[in-house]
Amino acid sequence: MVYDLLCIGFGPAQLATAIANHESRKPANVLFVERKPTFSWHSPQLTRTRMESPFIYDLATTRNPRSAFSYTNYLFVRDRLVEFTNSDRLNPLRLEFEDYLSWAAGHFKDNVRYGSEVVGVAPEKCDGPVRRWNVAIRDAKGQTQVVQARSIVGPSPSGKHDQKPLSLTSVDFLAGQRIISVDDYKSRRNDLRGNNEPRLNIAVVGSGEQTIEILDDLLTCPRLGNITVVTENESLAPLRILDGEQEPPQPRLCSIWAKPSCEQKSPITGSSELVQDIYARAYEKQVASKGEYTLRVVVGSRDAGGACSSANVIIAEQAQRSAFANNGLFHGLDALVLGCRQKGDSLEEVQFKRGAVAESCKVWMLSAHSEGGRSLAKDIAVRAGEVVKALATTEEGRERDGVTIAARM
Ligand SMILES: Cc1cc2nc3c(=O)[nH]c(=O)nc-3n(C[C@H](O)[C@H](O)[C@H](O)COP(=O)(O)OP(=O)(O)OC[C@H]3O[C@@H](n4cnc5c(N)ncnc54)[C@H](O)[C@@H]3O)c2cc1C
Repeated sequence: MVYDLLCIGFGPAQLATAIANHESRKPANVLFVERKPTFSWHSPQLTRTRMESPFIYDLATTRNPRSAFSYTNYLFVRDRLVEFTNSDRLNPLRLEFEDYLSWAAGHFKDNVRYGSEVVGVAPEKCDGPVRRWNVAIRDAKGQTQVVQARSIVGPSPSGKHDQKPLSLTSVDFLAGQRIISVDDYKSRRNDLRGNNEPRLNIAVVGSGEQTIEILDDLLTCPRLGNITVVTENESLAPLRILDGEQEPPQPRLCSIWAKPSCEQKSPITGSSELVQDIYARAYEKQVASKGEYTLRVVVGSRDAGGACSSANVIIAEQAQRSAFANNGLFHGLDALVLGCRQKGDSLEEVQFKRGAVAESCKVWMLSAHSEGGRSLAKDIAVRAGEVVKALATTEEGRERDGVTIAARM
């Protein structure tokens, strides 16, 4: 059997594709291959954290406001629509969003091969342009099978999320400093928040979503001492206002060359809701302790160990798994590829050398990662719809739909 589309992975981006296909007039024959044993999304460590974007940026609404897979319908099914509306917050709790994604994924379990990994994609050998891709899939028992698909959607290897871990080489363990991983924060949280005398000074080192959430949570505890965050996440830069330290004057370009945006400091009021919450909590901490305990924000320092020298406990991100983990998958296509064309935030279409690949044979990279990582890419529903639409408009897609249009000059 030849699939119309094979999707590598079954995260939010591919789930949006599954929904768009389900809602298309003539659904294509799609296989999803996911290495995890079941659907799962980054489970939030802390239950009260929220998505950065309002609920309409779900898996479907912006493409099809009448979709049965909208967040609104999910709330309706869960019998919480009125309560959600009354809660007066447009941004869903991450815990609830995770449940929404799992609920939506549950509708497609027959189309997903869980516990299987795509280990390679290669063009089918033939004379003339490539018409099919051979996709090697390794199952949980280690056995590899090759299936054929006309088009492929892969997860984007997104470099911007691939931040290097900050260096902690100068941590003084002999002096009692301790490092714990962000992943262990939940289990260690109560110890840290206990009645420690003297108060514990805590540093958080990292640039991802968990770091920001942990920082926010630490600031809710009135028994902690100073808190330091060392990060490369520029979205936290507005918090430097809390430091009160004057930055040395920067050399300035003559005004006709200077870009106004380089000169402006981003204000707290223009930053995300979470950063504003962090700012408010840090300020309350400072007022309540009459300035004895504060939040210190260090953005962009490679020597995290030095910046954390007065912390008793350092909560650190582990080295991120490379976002380029799927890089090797497409090496079989190297000789055919010219480059990628970006479509919106979340979609890239691979461009092939002229005549090398049939028009009906597409390869896309689709990712729901957003710039700050705290919300799904806002155009994911629409771009997933474009992929599905393109399947129907390719030559073989038209055949599938029963209408073959041929024109000769
Ligand atoms: C800890 C953490 C917290 C986050 N919190 C939030 C948040 O609060 N809000 C938010 O919007 N975003 C958050 N994000 C960002 C998150 O990455 C995106 O929300 C979203 O998951 C991206 O969706 P995706 O489908 O593009 O990629 P992913 O979710 O990464 O899905 C890709 C899937 O493909 C599978 N896969 C990859 N390669 C293969 C292969 N070769 N074979 C088989 N399967 C494969 C993977 O197992 C994965 O399930 C968080 C990220 C992290 C790491």
